[in-house]
Amino acid sequence: MSQKKRINIGPFSRTHSQLAQVVREVKRTPYGKRIRCISLASRQQLCINPQVKHLGSLSVINERCLDLAPKNKDGKENVPSKCCKYRKASLMQNLNESALLKIMDIEELVAEGESLNACPYYAAREAAKSAQLVMLSYQMLLHRRTRQQAGIDLRGAIVIIDEAHNLLDTIAHLHSCELNLHSLILLQQQLSAYKKRYIKRFSSTSLLNINQLIFIVKRLLKLLQTSAPIFRVLRTYELTAEGEFYNIDLYGLLKFCDQSRLAQKLQGFAENPINYTKTKEQELTEGSATKQLLKQIEILQKNNKSSPEK
Ligand code: SF4
Repeated sequence: MSQKKRINIGPFSRTHSQLAQVVREVKRTPYGKRIRCISLASRQQLCINPQVKHLGSLSVINERCLDLAPKNKDGKENVPSKCCKYRKASLMQNLNESALLKIMDIEELVAEGESLNACPYYAAREAAKSAQLVMLSYQMLLHRRTRQQAGIDLRGAIVIIDEAHNLLDTIAHLHSCELNLHSLILLQQQLSAYKKRYIKRFSSTSLLNINQLIFIVKRLLKLLQTSAPIFRVLRTYELTAEGEFYNIDLYGLLKFCDQSRLAQKLQGFAENPINYTKTKEQELTEGSATKQLLKQIEILQKNNKSSPEK
């Protein structure tokens, strides 16, 4: 191994229980006592602050944790009484050292964090900088933003992937999203409530962006509600043309959503979701649309194979 550039060897697995299994195996090897090995996971798995971890959803936990950080999102110092008590530097240093001395899986890291009153999430991130072996789930490996947030730099690293046949599925899952009629109706409701609440505070650009989002959601709803229940694959330009929002800058809107953390802001407007009952037809056409489409292609292929050649 190069002495100039530290090399991490990362076995990446699909689930944390699989990673825990790898950790157990590493412990049994002759290297188990001397290797610096650390397991990374999300705040949802590692948070030990009872007032935060009970929030359940990963995005809400992330948001709350960032609110309790020593510096807030704008880089301003937070009032000490408002900071998470598990993030004190001295306590974190203790956990960081102990995590590098002894190989631990996620559960053991959380237990150690609880006994030392130190945050396992930030301690593990810090420890990963000095580790020789970093354990990650697929999700952390394959999603650039998550990787960056966790401080993972894969340049020069040796990457070991467990059960690699699951990689394609995971990549497709991580980089796609499925929208159904129900979620669009809910989103329309959230956006409208958010706009109504804060309309006087919006800058003209923000208001334009919100209005454009509401318009796009409305057009997508119309498409879903009026189209015949058939499965179709549309290219982006076909979808934007059919939905009549081809003249809207989608990248600009994405940037706005990202920078304003709109998704997180809308969370609070989902507390009283509308009552929505699916018709049988809707149940057939929504939900796992991708799976249904793939199933349909599979049936078509089977039919083609079984039909006699002319
Ligand atoms: S600093 Fe750690 S313990 Fe505190 S809220 Fe964030 S993840 Fe939870």
